[in-house]
Amino acid sequence: MPAGGELKLDVQLEDVGDGVLVTAQVTAPLVGECARCLDEFSARTHVRFREMFAAAAGGSGDDGYLLDGDLLDLEPALRDALVLDLPLSPLCRPDCAGLCSRCGIKLADAEPGHAHPGDGGVWAVLKDLFGPEESEPTGDDRVADPESGGNGRPEDTSLTGTSRPEGSKER
Ligand SMILES: [Zn+2]
Ligand SMILES: [Zn+2]
Repeated sequence: MPAGGELKLDVQLEDVGDGVLVTAQVTAPLVGECARCLDEFSARTHVRFREMFAAAAGGSGDDGYLLDGDLLDLEPALRDALVLDLPLSPLCRPDCAGLCSRCGIKLADAEPGHAHPGDGGVWAVLKDLFGPEESEPTGDDRVADPESGGNGRPEDTSLTGTSRPEGSKER
């Protein structure tokens, strides 16, 4: 609850002999942090409670409230009722999309279909483009081979592989 928030109270008091039965309806402003997107948001909560305020201790069970002489302090009962009413995981709205798990941006503020490259998208395409060039077997292999370079006919040896013409090797 924000400090200085305005409460709307509708209280009904009933004298029941050894105490006062209080029936109250309260509308209170709330400020909370969304459990998904961590945004601060405000809302209003509406609670009703009915509590017995006993004139003397022990008059209405263990967890009852007490009258302070002629005064009735609603605050403890009101606080209890509001706390019970608060959700454990408040959301700024029921369908809050929360935050992106990779960059932490609020998905509600991000572009539609917000996603990140690197999950097999753009980078996988680049790898396909550059991969074959790196593992190209022709070219450098032919020049670096001392046998094929020495016999003066590198084209034939590289194309035919191990089954090169016998004549060139014998010479
Ligand atoms: Zn949210
Ligand atoms: Zn993201």
